[in-house]
Amino acid sequence: KWDEILSYLKNEYAITDVSYDSWIKPLELFQIEDNKLYLTYSGDQNTMTLSYVTRKYATPLKVTIAEITGIQFDEILVISQDNANQIKKEKNVNINIEEAPTYNEKKIGNTTINPKFTFDNFVVGRNNRFAQTAALAVAESPGEFYNPLYIYGGPGLGKTHLMQAIGNYIENQNPNTHILYVTSEEFTNEVIENMRANSNATAMQRFRDKYRTVDVLMVDDIQFIIGKEATQEEFFHTFNALHAMGKQIVISSDKPPKDMETLDDRFKSRFDMGLMADIGYPDYETRMAILNKKVEDKKFNLDESIRKYIAENIQSNIREIEGALNKLIAFSRLEKIDITMEIAERELQNFISPNISREITPQLIIEVVAEHFNLTVDQMASKNRSNNVARPRQIAMYLCNTMTDSSLQAIGLLLGGRDHSTIIHGANKIGEEIEKDENTKSLVETIKKKINPN
Ligand code: ADP
Ligand code: MG
Repeated sequence: KWDEILSYLKNEYAITDVSYDSWIKPLELFQIEDNKLYLTYSGDQNTMTLSYVTRKYATPLKVTIAEITGIQFDEILVISQDNANQIKKEKNVNINIEEAPTYNEKKIGNTTINPKFTFDNFVVGRNNRFAQTAALAVAESPGEFYNPLYIYGGPGLGKTHLMQAIGNYIENQNPNTHILYVTSEEFTNEVIENMRANSNATAMQRFRDKYRTVDVLMVDDIQFIIGKEATQEEFFHTFNALHAMGKQIVISSDKPPKDMETLDDRFKSRFDMGLMADIGYPDYETRMAILNKKVEDKKFNLDESIRKYIAENIQSNIREIEGALNKLIAFSRLEKIDITMEIAERELQNFISPNISREITPQLIIEVVAEHFNLTVDQMASKNRSNNVARPRQIAMYLCNTMTDSSLQAIGLLLGGRDHSTIIHGANKIGEEIEKDENTKSLVETIKKKINPN
């Protein structure tokens, strides 16, 4: 089972043979206590390697173990053979592992950099090219050009991936670089914790030392420190100290600083010293390229038509594209069958409910009606009065009139400059038909659902 977990990890995180042999293979199960998993590392026993292994692989291991066994450990700790022997000896005096001081140095309190996120597997498209280029420049020469680098964009568009790619790149180039990656929530929690340990003034000092001695500081999702005064204060000083020493700072946020209304102006001016890079929404080609890459990385077989279906329908969040793919993979493995379009449509209902919050406008209605009847929008607006065009046009009049607040004039304008009496006539005609005729009623209901699925 342990071997299975490790080889799954190797595949899933594309770990090279060399790394696998030196870091992963020497890991052995030691014990479980208080929902913490302790591993021993039988390779080189210095603390540097132990902390490196923990930093780099604890999170991936946690995720992999949870995926395979369903067990979620709070923490995974890698300890040296010596420590392990010590514990074995002291076991009969019933030592509380958590209080054993020897572990503290290997306990990495913060989120680790996940080796899964690299530049190699970051697909570059029009929406993220600038941010990717900037991130790569920072990774190649930290502290030299763009400081801070400020990456912003909506959820699930690759901010964390890019930041972690910077971390992984630097770590590979120079394993001695001291990189610290935290979410702003973790940073906040630490500030609060250390302030509470007030009686112990060294706690805050230790916190400061920790943050002010790094070579690269990355703070993810900075928007969450807004309104937290003490945390902002602390971050401000950390920022200044590091910046003055030419240490690289990378920040991500969901918005540019100028749109973070309640962010202190002093931050805005600090952030302006560096480079802003936004990540926009990926276009269809980029979404497809990302999906193809993930399918390939996961060595999964997924028909092109189904990939298209996913890339066409999930437009504003890569995390959701990945979630959809993972769902299909899980289904396929569980049921031991290939995914068909029918299965995909059924299984992905939660991901693909057509644009949940789009605004309902006469334009939208006309487009949907046209599409429903296989007509073009131009035909809808044309002079053509044959029934197969005129009737859909009247349905559009009815729906525009009942589903929006638009004036009859505005609707008429969109439908080829027809006057308001034509619109009211068409709308009423369909309205009356709905009362009398079940078929018309259900036809209109169907189209309504397409316009507004909720
Ligand atoms: P954010 O931090 O902006 O919310 P993440 O960086 O967590 O988004 O990205 C969400 C998921 O989408 C991650 O699994 C990431 O690997 C993937 N992703 C986003 N953009 C890309 C890209 N350009 N190429 C490959 N994967 C991407
Ligand atoms: Mg993120």
